[in-house]
Amino acid sequence: MARRKKIYEGKAKILYEGPEPGTIVQYFKDDATAFNAQKKDVIEGKGVLNNRLSEFFMTGLNNIGVPTHFLRRLNMREQLCRSCEIIPLEVIVRNVAAGSMSKRLGIEEGTQLPRPIVEYCLKNDDLGDPLVTEEHIAAFGWASQQDMDDIVHLALRVNDFLSGVMMAVGIKLVDFKIEIGRVYEGDFQRLVVADEISPDSCRLWDIESGKHLDKDVFRRDLGSLTDAYTEVAQRLGVLPRSAGTTKPTLIN
Ligand code: UDP
Repeated sequence: MARRKKIYEGKAKILYEGPEPGTIVQYFKDDATAFNAQKKDVIEGKGVLNNRLSEFFMTGLNNIGVPTHFLRRLNMREQLCRSCEIIPLEVIVRNVAAGSMSKRLGIEEGTQLPRPIVEYCLKNDDLGDPLVTEEHIAAFGWASQQDMDDIVHLALRVNDFLSGVMMAVGIKLVDFKIEIGRVYEGDFQRLVVADEISPDSCRLWDIESGKHLDKDVFRRDLGSLTDAYTEVAQRLGVLPRSAGTTKPTLIN
């Protein structure tokens, strides 16, 4: 591809100017980080898997009328997206207690929550992405009350969609994080799901065994991260079952 202008480099992705005005290209790197980048590694193939998985989830959302920034996948590591202004919040939806919520509230990991819980963290690495309330968001003008209503609505629709898609392949959607962007259309603005949706930003547990199929494999040293993500991609039909194996298959 022709030389492009880099807009931003994050922990897992690089954003480039897109080929047309109002577009950007997201490049998925193999870098994995956890605990605010205190733990780092390069996991070969992770970027390719996340590009494919994020394409799968974002396309599904677009198809059911949940707007996203995703336009199309360009190649193994890149996708074309609408450029948008990212609201500086991490929007987390939880169905089952885990991770920071379990620690903060002393609720055992794996406890089913009585209803999905939506939380917000301020996107600020220097502060370690602190949890904030709607009061902070309104008082500091990070988003308006109308934005917040739209964000909760989007987040819960994403939760219903992802929970169903994962449940169908024997995986429990424990929690996930999304980011929301503003897209301007003439005098109007609307909110879209932006960034990525992948096992880097979700907790996914095998329903039968409880096995972790998400970034906790890396955070907690539970085995091969690419094996876990490949398993998710194969179950969803995003990768053929035989990908990466040369073993003959027995046919009865
Ligand atoms: N998450 C994320 N990026 C972050 C923080 C959290 O994608 O910077 C995701 C994480 O993968 C999990 C959910 O949001 O699916 C809830 O994470 P939690 O607050 O439990 O934080 P953690 O235990 O990962 O520190």
